[in-house]
Amino acid sequence: MSVEETIGVGAPRIPQQRGERVLDAAVRYTDERHWDVVAGTWLEADNGRERCSCGELDCPAPGVHPARPDWATQATGSPAGARRMWAKNPSASVLLPTGRTFDALDVSESAGCLALARMERMGIELGPISSTPFRRMQFFVLPGGALKVADAVRKLGWRPSSLDLVARGEGDYVVAPPSRVGNRGAVQWARQPTAANRWLPDAEELVSALAYACGGDPAGARNP
Ligand SMILES: [Zn+2]
Repeated sequence: MSVEETIGVGAPRIPQQRGERVLDAAVRYTDERHWDVVAGTWLEADNGRERCSCGELDCPAPGVHPARPDWATQATGSPAGARRMWAKNPSASVLLPTGRTFDALDVSESAGCLALARMERMGIELGPISSTPFRRMQFFVLPGGALKVADAVRKLGWRPSSLDLVARGEGDYVVAPPSRVGNRGAVQWARQPTAANRWLPDAEELVSALAYACGGDPAGARNP
């Protein structure tokens, strides 16, 4: 069962998601959301198999990591810049730098699904949520949110290091659909970016549901 079937998708789907060209998606992110984008690595055919363009045979993130050390300064927020970048390599993955127009809270898929159901019951307004073949989910929040997570988690009674809750802010990135991860499949939207979720939630609004989903009872986490 896919993530979308498991959690249900609240917002209407943009029909071109499936089979959309990477270039079109990258241009749309800059144009519609004013997100910066940067081309990552890609998958290359190699003796009937696919391998990451970085050349590492056992690349841990085949086709979906930065292609060069200065990736952060290469990122562009302009549709024309995105078009140029992907015209050079139409199959390059789409990386979205965090800490600019959004941060992301990254949790396991099981915790993410649980938290999402809880947030929906609580009526929390959510931003886009991506879902990767690594079985991780990324909740998009206002920029600067990543810095607040550790404190917010501590206030709720958990040690931040005890939770598998990764706050991605400045200097980091998330991989966006329709980037493909080796033979594992493509990154997808569990919640599409739409006009309805243009305003992102603050990280603090999501931390409680995410921390409970990641860590269970805080007392138990403190006294294992
Ligand atoms: Zn690689």
